Amino acid sequence: MSKGRHKVVIVGGGFGGLNATKSLADADVDITLVDRTNHHLFQPLLYQVAAGLLSPGLIAPALRTVVKKQRNVRTLLAEVDGFDLDKKIVYTTEPDGEPLELPYDTLIVAGGATHSYFGKDHFAEFAPGMKTIEDARYLRDAVLSKFEMAEMTTDPQERSDWLTFVVIGAGPTGVELVGQIAELAHSVLPKDYRSVDTRQARIILLEGAGAVLPPFKPELQQWAQKKLESMGVEIHLNSLAVDMDHGSITVKSPNGIETIRTRTRIWAAGVAASPLAKKLADQAGLEVDRAGRIPVNPDCTVDGRPEVFAIGDMVSLNKLPGVAQPALQEGKYIGKVIKARLAGAPAPAPFKYFDKGSMATIGYRSAVADAFGRKFTGIIAWGMWSFVHVAYLVGWGNRFGTMYNWLRGMIFTKNRGHRIITFEGAQRRVGPESTKNRAILPPETFKSPESPESIGDGEKLGESTRS
Ligand SMILES: Cc1cc2nc3c(=O)[nH]c(=O)nc-3n(C[C@H](O)[C@H](O)[C@H](O)COP(=O)(O)OP(=O)(O)OC[C@H]3O[C@@H](n4cnc5c(N)ncnc54)[C@H](O)[C@@H]3O)c2cc1C
Repeated sequence: MSKGRHKVVIVGGGFGGLNATKSLADADVDITLVDRTNHHLFQPLLYQVAAGLLSPGLIAPALRTVVKKQRNVRTLLAEVDGFDLDKKIVYTTEPDGEPLELPYDTLIVAGGATHSYFGKDHFAEFAPGMKTIEDARYLRDAVLSKFEMAEMTTDPQERSDWLTFVVIGAGPTGVELVGQIAELAHSVLPKDYRSVDTRQARIILLEGAGAVLPPFKPELQQWAQKKLESMGVEIHLNSLAVDMDHGSITVKSPNGIETIRTRTRIWAAGVAASPLAKKLADQAGLEVDRAGRIPVNPDCTVDGRPEVFAIGDMVSLNKLPGVAQPALQEGKYIGKVIKARLAGAPAPAPFKYFDKGSMATIGYRSAVADAFGRKFTGIIAWGMWSFVHVAYLVGWGNRFGTMYNWLRGMIFTKNRGHRIITFEGAQRRVGPESTKNRAILPPETFKSPESPESIGDGEKLGESTRS
């Protein structure tokens, strides 16, 4: 990189940061793209990693590879700790703990969002959320480990505890997660287990509002609710999680307070802006909103700091939702603003969002979509959803790989190809009390051969027990 060129530091290689980087490909600038991970994460498909349908690499290509042909950018794996907007420096820490300062002429901050437990941060210990690849892998191992535990226990109550899955929050992520757990329990796993009938799993979706998919239109909400119920999901509306521990969750609803025994709680209820928003706001003398987002000007600059841009989930601008399209479009837009400035050209008009609609999958080849001013449900919506998600994945290899996995897991067989867990991994996810009531299974605990649906393809139970 040449010395003395205009220096752009971009914090975050997500939808906002990566699109800002790409839109500056033809600009006479040196870009430093810094992220605390080495990959660009396609969060909308995280739930499929959590369900063992996709491998992590398909939705998380290395940032270095994504920008390898863009000669004006270098990528760094470092944690951004703060900023000095007067000195124009970004403070970071390298993985070995060494500090690293990044000076800039233009700064773009696109740090995204994190979980919000609405002030009950201790819930995080009992109800992990899903924002990162590690989160999705953790949840996948956690869910699969519970089925393993259910196979080994001889106590009916304990088995029921292992087989009860509670997802808190019925937004798109919560709905997609329960849909996948229901498919695992009812379609994918039953023939793989000899002792436990995974179809007995109780899958519960809790929602504080009066409908599932709160951002969607009422017809789509009702359709989604009916579809989920037909898949065996119990939906508890107007229900708030008020307490939880490793063995239960307590729920407050119009019917009163109920404690549900469960070994698995998953948090899909709330988001808050990245803590970087507050750090930036403090430096700029601004206040963040209730969700921790920094306000920005109509051209995505931080007030009083024209050389500092903030975009995506961590900003509040025109009441835009915290989804991928605003981040992506803002990233492209500020590239134009910066290039116009460098060229001495007039500034582009303020940022204008183009709403391309919203979609969510409900389960096996089924989705709801609100796009082009129309509402779609079922397999047509699923087709639209699949097309859009494949199109926005980064890299043809990942697109083909994803389509292959979908064909394999959702069309030709109902299998999930990425179900690797280890003893150590399972141990971490099931907790210390899990060994009670476990025993070597006597033969009579195997599923009854009279139950034909419990017998695997071409494999009689009697045969498998003999081996
Ligand atoms: C499970 C899930 C499902 C979703 N599904 C959909 C969907 O179906 N449709 C849709 O439109 N949107 C969906 N979203 C929302 C969408 O992914 C976000 O709105 C979008 O990613 C926001 O882009 P961003 O650039 O603001 O942040 P991100 O894409 O989150 O990128 C932020 C980047 O900043 C990095 N970073 C954060 N802090 C630091 C730090 N201190 N130092 C260095 N790097 C840092 C992160 O590692 C990350 O790479 C979903 C989100 C989740 C979590």
